[in-house]
Formats: sequence, structure tokens, C-alpha cells
Amino acid sequence: MTDKKINKIRRRVITGLGAVAASSLLPRRLSAQRSNDTDVLIIGGGIAGSSTAFHLAEQGRDVILLERGDIASEASGQNMGGLGGSGWGNNPDLLSYLTAGSVEIFKRMQIDMDYDIEFRLSGTLTAIHSDAQYEFYQDDVASQRNNGYEIELLSAREARAIEPEANGALPGYMYRPQRGQADPVKTTRAFAHAAQIAGATVNTGQNVVSITPMSAGGYLIQTESTEFRCQTLVLATGAWCGPVGEMLGLRIPIVPVRGQMWATESLPMRIMHTIGSTISSYAWSKDNGSDNVTPPNLTHKNGRRNTRHLYGRQSKNGEIIFGGDRESLGYNTTPNPAGIEVNRDHAAEVIPLVASLPIARTWAGLMPFSLDGAPVIGKIPIRDNLFIVSGMASSGFGRGPMAGKLAADYIHSGNMTHVLAESDPARCVTEK
Ligand SMILES: Cc1cc2nc3c(=O)[nH]c(=O)nc-3n(C[C@H](O)[C@H](O)[C@H](O)COP(=O)(O)OP(=O)(O)OC[C@H]3O[C@@H](n4cnc5c(N)ncnc54)[C@H](O)[C@@H]3O)c2cc1C
Repeated sequence: MTDKKINKIRRRVITGLGAVAASSLLPRRLSAQRSNDTDVLIIGGGIAGSSTAFHLAEQGRDVILLERGDIASEASGQNMGGLGGSGWGNNPDLLSYLTAGSVEIFKRMQIDMDYDIEFRLSGTLTAIHSDAQYEFYQDDVASQRNNGYEIELLSAREARAIEPEANGALPGYMYRPQRGQADPVKTTRAFAHAAQIAGATVNTGQNVVSITPMSAGGYLIQTESTEFRCQTLVLATGAWCGPVGEMLGLRIPIVPVRGQMWATESLPMRIMHTIGSTISSYAWSKDNGSDNVTPPNLTHKNGRRNTRHLYGRQSKNGEIIFGGDRESLGYNTTPNPAGIEVNRDHAAEVIPLVASLPIARTWAGLMPFSLDGAPVIGKIPIRDNLFIVSGMASSGFGRGPMAGKLAADYIHSGNMTHVLAESDPARCVTEK
């Protein structure tokens, strides 16, 4: 029996079964029988690659995903777990699709497919720290509401009614009910698992070292140990899109930006929402700091801090986690304790209880920032059958599920949906 037939049968077997239950029914040897030739090969086992693999396999395509470490071993497993946006709005654009569309996919994974990804549409409270910010966001909220987005301006008193630990001395808060949270590692692994259940092969420990276009079409992908062949290639390599693009002679303007986080010990549930602050978005609305080698909306430039950024939540295991700094330092993933202290003070201005809680651990990861700040999702036209799903910067966990679905739909149908015009790689991917 051919691999294709085996996969068709496998897909028929799992229809109607919960994903986890179905996995235990699958004979392991089916995976082992697969060859290294495939229709679509995806490089990168973060949320972008895993979601693309799931949505393609679900549509019946033969898929191999290659990941050099484990699934979720980079940014997709290290992030804060914040997701969502302000709903679809009256005229959904790419941002609406990526945020609200992903929320629907998170719900599907947790509620319909029975994966415990700790998803919760908790809503987000974003603290406003000054009268100038309050005035600015009053207009911004009014304009967003006129466009059909779900966002409210709350007084500190109203905010404390839904988040008792919020600082009541601040001028106000923005509230977005369509934002939420989920566990990053569990979620990303759920997508990779669901992809396997739908027939994809997921190979971890496969570091891609070279990519060669084949004369008959398609690509030869060489890892440190194995050779693979595919008709269509998808780059979902996050902050490593630059070096992987170079293997194809391409310049992909996505750079690594270090984000760092810290966590307290576990404590009983005290914080209900995800938490943020308007300080950074207000500063970036005046000057986003970008130039032709620096992406917009970083907290630091040339080693100097320009603003403070904040995001955090209390995860299901009881840890309170916060982070925020965004620094362009190449592939450096060592946390900077001074930056963590600034972030902790910032968090304490919004949630005063954290001032008395010791930091139990810190970590850092690399976010894929495109130089123009927009996602890079779609077909790279200067090579045949080459796609990319990346550039989702500091929001790729929450937006990755829908980014993967949009990419999968594009690859499967051959047609680009209109919203992907905003993320078209043709605007920025060039010959090296
Ligand atoms: C500290 C921090 C906090 C964040 N908080 C949030 C948040 O709250 N909400 C949110 O939405 N986003 C957040 N983000 C951003 C989010 O994590 C990223 O945008 C997202 O995870 C990017 O996903 P990805 O799949 O594109 O990249 P990654 O998760 O980095 O995956 C890319 C994968 O490609 C693999 N790879 C690279 N090169 C090769 C190769 N040669 N061969 C094989 N495999 C290769 C890597 O090993 C990696 O696993 C945060 C990020 C950080 C670092």
C-alpha cells in the first residue's frame, strides 16, 4: 500500500474521534513506513509551522515538518501566552483575521478537539499611566469602537471590580474582552500532534543545513543526518528566516529580537486577566524607532532604553509571569537582570502585589521581527513553490494559528486570500 493510501485510511479512522483518543489508536509503524519524499515540507516546529502542518494535513496534503530541536523549543514555547485582539471589526483586515481568527482556532483546539492547552478568553486590562495617555486612548478607543472593535475604557474603580489586584491610583485602563491566554508549549505541541493525527510526519532533531532547488522542480532538503525531497517548501523558521533564506540565496528581512520574562513562585489565583501598559504603545505612536536595519517598536536602540513595555498574567500553575523588553542583539538569549528589574517595577505599578514577590526564574527567547513591522506570510515569487509564514514579531503565539491556516489555504488552493496582500513576501524578500 502506498503512503498516500495509508494516510487516507488514517484520516478516515480518526474522523469523529477526539484527537487524543485517536492518537492512541494509531499504529506507530505507519509513521515509520513513510518515505522522505513529500508533497509539502515545512521547516520549523514553532506555532507557525505546526499550525500550517495541521491545516494542510487536514486538507489531505502529504506533509513533513522538520524541526531541529523539539516542537516549541524556541519562541513558541517561551512566550507569555497572550492571545487575541479586539474582535473582527466591521471591515476585517489582516490583523483582525490573525487575532480573531486565531481565537476561534484556540477554541477549536481546546473545546472541540479536547486538547488541554489552558486556553481562557480572560480579557486584557491595559493600564493607562498619565493624563496625556488617557486623552490619546480616549480618542483611540472611540475610533476603534466606531469601526466595530470590542474595546472599552474603564475607570480604575471599574477595572478593580473585575481585577481586584489592579492599581486603583492609575487614571484608567483599556479593557479588551476578546483577548486571552493559553500555555505556549502545550498549545504548540497540540498543533503538531493534531497534524500527526491528520497524517503529517513530524520529525524533530532535524537541523536543515542546505536547500537545493531540483532541476525537475521542487527542493532537496539536507539535514545533518538525512535527505528529504518536496514539491512545495514552507519556511516557518521564526527568527532564523534570515539564515535559512540564505540557503536559497535569498535575503529575508526578518531579524531576531530578544524578549525576556520572569516568574514568581506559584501562588493561589490572584490575577484574572492578561495585563499590559500603554506606556510603550504611546511612545511608539510618537516615534517607532525604525530605520533600514532596525524594526519598529523596540524598547531599546543602540543599547539605550527608549521605553518600557509590559505584558503578563498568572498561569494555571499559579506562577505570575511578566515580561516586556524587546532588544535587537543578534542571537543572544541570555536574560539581562537589569532589564528584568525595570520590568518588575513596571509590573508593580500596575499590579502592586508583585512588588513583594521574589523572582523565581527568568528566561529569554527570540522573536521574528520583520524590518517593516508587518507579517511575512505567503508565496515568495522569486522561487518556485516556496512559501513563508513568519514575521509575527511579539504577537506570533496569538496570531500563529490563523497565520498557519491562511498559509495552508493558500498552498492548498493556489489562491491568495485578499487579506494576505498586507503580508505579501514580494514586498521585501529579494535575491541575496
Ligand atoms: C519572551 C517572549 C514573550 C512573548 N510573548 C508573546 C505573547 O504573549 N503573545 C504572542 O502572541 N506572542 C508572544 N511572543 C512572540 C511569539 O512567541 C513569536 O512571535 C512566535 O512564537 C513565533 O513563532 P514561529 O513559529 O514563527 O517561530 P519559533 O517558535 O521560533 O519557531 C521557529 C522554529 O524553527 C526552527 N528552526 C530554525 N532554523 C531551523 C533549521 N535550520 N532547521 C530546522 N529547524 C529550524 C527553530 O528551532 C524553531 O523551533 C513572545 C516572544 C518572546 C520571546
